[in-house]
Amino acid sequence: MKITEHIERAAGKTLFSFEILPPLKGHNIQGIFNGIDPLMEFKPPFIDVTYHREEYVYHERGNGLLEKKVVRKRPGTVGICAAIQSKYKVDAVPHILCGGFTKEDTENFLIDLDFLGIHNVMALRGDAVKSELYFQPEEDGHRFACDLVSQVNDMNSGKFLDEALENGHRTEFCIGVAGYPEKHMEAPSLERDIQNLKLKQERGAQYVVTQMFFDNQKFFAFEEKCRKEGITIPIIPGLKPVSITKHLNVIPHRFNVDLPEELSGEIEKCRSNQEVQEVGVEWCVQQSKELVAAGVPVLHYYSMGKSKNIKRIAAEIF
Ligand code: FAD
Repeated sequence: MKITEHIERAAGKTLFSFEILPPLKGHNIQGIFNGIDPLMEFKPPFIDVTYHREEYVYHERGNGLLEKKVVRKRPGTVGICAAIQSKYKVDAVPHILCGGFTKEDTENFLIDLDFLGIHNVMALRGDAVKSELYFQPEEDGHRFACDLVSQVNDMNSGKFLDEALENGHRTEFCIGVAGYPEKHMEAPSLERDIQNLKLKQERGAQYVVTQMFFDNQKFFAFEEKCRKEGITIPIIPGLKPVSITKHLNVIPHRFNVDLPEELSGEIEKCRSNQEVQEVGVEWCVQQSKELVAAGVPVLHYYSMGKSKNIKRIAAEIF
């Protein structure tokens, strides 16, 4: 079922969902199931599976030259989605990226998903690879997520890249996109970023999931600005509990989000990561309660494969 249908059917009740990462190459799917099993009691109607593009490593060849090699650390998004749908009978939402994909790669990826009965996708640009400062699309790939949304939407209208293919099968993808309550790090302003988000809606996006945030007021202000700009699709808040002291610096740096002074102060007082986890869970519970009271359609948790904290939070809310 489409994510938007799940939201409609819930008729105002806030749903629970979460996101998992494919396992590192060499690990098996049981690790994924072990992370999902404890959260199934909260009846997630859908589970997101992230996509991780290739990275480059350079090997010395001994003659002063470097050899560039492509490595994929977390392959398997499509297979994991199919396994989740089959085992748990809930919808899996694969993340699809512009980065590392030509338009043809994207079409083939989507055809595989369609064959497997996976009818929701989260369409994202992806970040620059580690060895590059700025995002570079493939030669025949997409520069922005809105262009990827257009391609998925074209397939939903039966329009494939091969123009000779007439009356092609119409896919039925429900398309989610990313939104940033504290602005995407490359956007010149929040206003411009919201206009770019609106473009994704105009191209066919049907719902938004936000970047994590730790101050609900930033989410509420963002939502209000989006509505004023004409964004009408559901906006789903993304939440992550802080769990280690390092997050104090890693999260703002990596995701361009602030930690409120009160939360940072509490984390700084902690003497172990165990204490940080307690602070993080409590903060996330309070955020979740306020968001449910405000009537958000879904609370989407970034579990990052660690379900213990998310289970404690969900137990207080759902
Ligand atoms: P875009 O919407 O393309 O925006 C990127 C930047 O370009 C923004 O600054 C925007 O304002 C600007 N922009 C957009 N359209 C235009 C335009 N037409 N003209 C000019 N400027 C424009 N990354 C992964 O690698 N794998 C994942 O699985 C993954 N999952 C994610 C899930 C969520 C919910 C979120 C919030 C992020 C996720 N990311 C993931 C990270 C994401 O790929 C990065 O944040 C990336 O830098 C931007 O992706 P986007 O889809 O928001 O890009």
